[in-house]
Amino acid sequence: MASDLHIHTSFSDGKFLPEEIVEKSKQLGLKYIGITDHDTIDGIADLYDKGFYPATGINIIPGIEMSADSEKHEIHILGYNIDIFNEELRENLIEVSEARWTRFSEIIEKLNNEGYDITETEVLTLAGASRSISRSHVARVLVKKGIFKTVREAFNTLLERGKPCYVPHFRLSVKKIIELIHSAGGIVVLAHPKLIYDDDSVQELLDLGMDGIEAYYPEHNDIDTARYINYAKKRNLIISGGSDYHGIGARHNIELGEFELDDKFAKQIFEMKK
Ligand SMILES: [Zn+2]
Ligand SMILES: [Zn+2]
Repeated sequence: MASDLHIHTSFSDGKFLPEEIVEKSKQLGLKYIGITDHDTIDGIADLYDKGFYPATGINIIPGIEMSADSEKHEIHILGYNIDIFNEELRENLIEVSEARWTRFSEIIEKLNNEGYDITETEVLTLAGASRSISRSHVARVLVKKGIFKTVREAFNTLLERGKPCYVPHFRLSVKKIIELIHSAGGIVVLAHPKLIYDDDSVQELLDLGMDGIEAYYPEHNDIDTARYINYAKKRNLIISGGSDYHGIGARHNIELGEFELDDKFAKQIFEMKK
């Protein structure tokens, strides 16, 4: 049996509802799954409200993926086993989400100024249930309208840092995120370290009080994974892994179930529940 601890749902920028993810994962025989939407835990709350969490036949790890403030790098931090009712975490997430809305309007304005025909309504229609409106929603509309062939192309041309329609956004500091996840009873894991493109920074980040590292990731080759496992061993950190599944061709085209994390790692995280 295998596990996958990095999955997005339509509550952020994934394609499928949390309950659809749970159902698909069960059919695929996954043993542990981590739902890790960007800056929101509403997908887990939705599962809970609808009676899908806790589930039978599969172990769901309530998680989150938070973007940290950094001048130089794109730093994502995963939280696992978090208490979704924790007030402090919820309040901070509301603040982050409000800032996302402001940023979203600014991005659309920039696109219009650059001559691209796109409206807020078009993006909101596509985003559907999402509580965490993002650049990928904007990019998907641009692709849908035939302006770009792929989401990646839209990012590379317009939306990425340094490109004409990039808007910086409010983010919590790495330290604040670690503190929030810990105070909500969670485990802090540094997401996809290779995408930070700077291993010295990766090691510094781990030393700020992270509990683990996402050593297994589709864009990590065996050498990368071995290096990250080594970083973990040196610091006595836990090892995690996941596909970063979105259900749409975002960063990598990988189907749920294609990426497999050994259950022993997932089990360790699942059992670290407070
Ligand atoms: Zn990420
Ligand atoms: Zn992710």
